[in-house]
Amino acid sequence: MTMKQKTKQVGTPESVNILGKTYAIEWLPHIYEDDGEQSGMSSTRHQVIKISTSHHKEQQKDTLLHEMLHAVDEEIGTKLEEEQVRHIATCLFQVLNSNPNILEFLFT
Ligand SMILES: [Zn+2]
Repeated sequence: MTMKQKTKQVGTPESVNILGKTYAIEWLPHIYEDDGEQSGMSSTRHQVIKISTSHHKEQQKDTLLHEMLHAVDEEIGTKLEEEQVRHIATCLFQVLNSNPNILEFLFT
């Protein structure tokens, strides 16, 4: 099987299952919070993750993983610091992105 045959086009997700709960994913041109424009945000109360589309596609994907981690953190009450979420998400994004064979092994 060639790499081209292995590559599966995946559309932009509109929802994600976080510990059994369906979170809507909203892709928006800009996201503003009290402290200014954000690359993303998540709300366990409203079960929504918002991602800014004004950033590069790879940043959007990193931000989605980051916000998913925030949602998991809030759901289970681990109380991770923002820096911890940022580092874990960015590193995990890189590791998973660099090892598609591991993802395939884990989830098939
Ligand atoms: Zn964050």
